[in-house]
Parts: sequence; C-alpha cells; structure tokens
Amino acid sequence: MNVADTEIVLGILNNKGYSQTNNADEADVVLFNTCSIRENAEQRIYGRLGNFKNLKALKPDLVVGILGCMAERLRKDLVEQKSIVDLVVGPDEYRRLPELIDVAYNGDKGIGVKLSRTETYDDIIPHREDGLSAWISVMRGCDKFCTFCVVPFTRGRERSRALSSVVDEICELSERGFKEISLLGQNVNSYKDGDKDFADLLAASAEVNRSVRIRFTTSHPQDLSDKLLYTIAEHSNICNYIHLPVQSGSDRILKLMNRTYTIGHYLKLIEKARKIIPGVSFSTDIISGFPTETFEDHIMTLDVMRQVRYDGAYMFKYSPREGTKAYAMKDDVAEETKSKRLQEIIDIQQQISYEINQELIGTEDIVLVEGVSRKSNDFLAGRTDTNKVVIFPNQDGIEAGDYLKIKIKRATQATLFGELVKAVKLNNNNLALIA
Ligand code: SAH
Ligand code: SF4
Repeated sequence: MNVADTEIVLGILNNKGYSQTNNADEADVVLFNTCSIRENAEQRIYGRLGNFKNLKALKPDLVVGILGCMAERLRKDLVEQKSIVDLVVGPDEYRRLPELIDVAYNGDKGIGVKLSRTETYDDIIPHREDGLSAWISVMRGCDKFCTFCVVPFTRGRERSRALSSVVDEICELSERGFKEISLLGQNVNSYKDGDKDFADLLAASAEVNRSVRIRFTTSHPQDLSDKLLYTIAEHSNICNYIHLPVQSGSDRILKLMNRTYTIGHYLKLIEKARKIIPGVSFSTDIISGFPTETFEDHIMTLDVMRQVRYDGAYMFKYSPREGTKAYAMKDDVAEETKSKRLQEIIDIQQQISYEINQELIGTEDIVLVEGVSRKSNDFLAGRTDTNKVVIFPNQDGIEAGDYLKIKIKRATQATLFGELVKAVKLNNNNLALIA
C-alpha cells in the first residue's frame, strides 16, 4: 500500500517538475513514507532519520519530510521533537505536498494532516517504473475498527475509487506490458461504486486483458461474498489465492479484537471457497499475545492453522498502539511468552508450507516469468497463480512476462524447483485456453 502511495506522491511531484534520485546526497527533499501498524515499523523510521542528521548539518536547506501513517499519528510531536523534520504530511494531503515543500524550504514547518472522507487520488497518474507487477489502491481507509489496529485512525474512513478509472488504469498498464495487477484495500469487500461491488470491479479488471493476472488484498472474513468466490472461479486470470487474515483461533480473543466473526464461520467460509474455487490457496495474518491470551487460546490458533493449512502466513507479536481500544487493555502477555508463541506459530507454518509444497512435486502449473533467479543467471524465477515462487533452468528465447508450463521436480518450504514442460511460450494467449 505504501509502494502504491509513494507512486502517487511521485506522480504529484513529477507534475510540478521534481525528479527522483536514488542518491540521498543529491536530494533537495527527502521523504520517508511511513507505517504505524506496529511499534518496530516506527522505530525503523527513527533509526533512518538519525542517519540523515549529518546530511542535514552539511546541507541546512535540505527538506526532510515524514509522510503517511506516522505523520498522521504523531503530527506536531515529530516536528517539535525531531528537529530535522521540516514536513509532516498524512495520507490524505499529498496533493498539498508541492505547496508544503515550499513552506518548509522557506524555513517554516510544513504540516498537512487532515483526513478526508472523499480523497481517492482518482485523477492522479501514479509514477511507475516499467515492470511486470503493479499495485493499484482501489479504496482507502477502513471502518472496521479492530481493537488492535491503528489504521482507521491514521488512514481515515473507507472510500472507493470509481470503477471506470481503475479499469482505465489497468488498460494503460496492460498496454505498457504489465502482466500482474494487485488491487489493494484494507478491506476490499467494502468496495463500492454506485451499485457496483468488489466482485464487479474484479470481473471488469479481469476482462481488460485475459493475459494479465489480477490479484487482490485484503479480504475481511466477515463479509467475503459468494459472488466474489464465483467471480474468482469464473475468470482464469483472477488468481486462485485469497489472503484471509484470521488473527487468532480463539473466539474469545476474536471478540476482544472486534473481528466480528467466529472460527466456525471462518472455517465454513474456507470450506465453501475450496468447493467453489478448486485449487484455491489461502494465506493469513496471525497475532500472538493479544491482551489476556491464554495458553489455551494460543493452542486454538495452532489448531486453526493445522485445519486450514495455509500456503503462507504473516505472523506478528501483538504491539500496543496508542489510541486503539486494545491499548486501554493491559498488555499482559509477557514478552517471552509472546515470542515463544510466535515461534511456535512460525514453526508450524513452515512445516505446513513444506508439506504443501512437497505434495506439488510431479504436478504441472503455469508460471509467469519474472526474470533471472536471485542466485544465478542460469536459472529463471517465476510465480504460479497461487503466488508460489518457482525456479527453473534458463533457456534462450524466454523473457520476463512469458507464461510457461512448468513441471515441479523438487520443493523446499519457500520455493518450488521445476523444468519446462512445453517448449512453447504461452505468451499473449488467453489464459483460459492455456489452463
Ligand atoms: N486490513 C487488513 C490488515 C491490515 S494490517 C486486515 O484486516 O486483515 C496487517 C496486519 O498487521 C493485520 O492483519 C494484523 O495481523 C497485523 N497488525 C495490525 N495491528 C497490529 C498490532 N497492533 N500488533 C500486531 N500486529 C498487528
Ligand atoms: Fe485494521 Fe481491522 Fe481495518 Fe484491517 S480491517 S485495517 S486490521 S481495522
């Protein structure tokens, strides 16, 4: 999401004649696009600000700005307590950046932290480097108010972009050669444009070009609709991969988190999705050590992981965030207990991912080639529709962006290794025909 927002910021600044440098010494303006979701994300930014102290001392005119959720959350504290910060701009005020940079350049502090009920940056053309994969924020904000989460406070109320403008953007990206588009929102099930919902947006996105893969994240388990599941099943280029964060396996904890579903509902949803979309894979987010979490609650989380058998998971220790409801509860799970439980969660997930990948040995799948593998030019790397990395021998004539049929020969917990089945490129074909 922050990558997508940074591209919007670059779009706005490029329009005003700014250009980007990757060398901080050359920069007149340095902007940090920040995340407040957990304490360690904020600590990293403080660390990086520290690294800029020397540069600022050498170049007093340098404008240093904090963008995004930390700007929204910490506002004036940042400019008052961190003397090198000249600019603080929240996620809904990026249009004012050129004006606020001028304010900072002239020696005042540039502050823009109002949240909006309508801003979607619909008309801004994000600045993207050429490539295969692009991210498009289709909605902003969140109205769910999970008790642990700072997002509703830092990114404001839910609002959606117009369906037609998202589709136009996908058309342009497809013409530029992009092959994979990820539609982003904190809770994409709430997407709305008049009488069109997220399933309609997904279908319209998939129909732009049947050889462009469409991914999306994140779905909230409370209101993932049947219509959405059927839409995924009906379109071969909508990836069979659903990120469906469960957070905890205990109904008591889910209630305290205000997640608004029970594990019973969640497991039924998984079962239904597997019936409607054969071969669908799931990933999840899990928090260990939410206030009052007992050993029994933790065991229930491990049980759900074993029942669902996720392909992947993002796993976190609970981090209290000021202003949230959970912040008022006592952070009463000891740090070592949180760490120990997190490690058990990670170990189980690694074991499950390994087993799932072993079962894929001998199967064939279509892989979108991303380029040479990180370790060697003799190998190429690509991804399956279910978001698994596949490594296979490089061959003349294969390029990034090609679709190839690969037979899986070997697998680790994180990676599949295979070989080309057909010496034919499946590029520019209709993915429906290939599958
Ligand atoms: N909108 C998405 C999540 C966005 S935040 C959803 O509802 O699923 C990404 C993940 O960060 C969350 O799913 C949660 O697992 C984690 N997270 C959010 N706040 C957290 C906190 N205070 N401590 C630890 N993890 C947190
Ligand atoms: Fe945060 Fe919950 Fe909204 Fe996700 S759905 S962004 S976890 S409040």
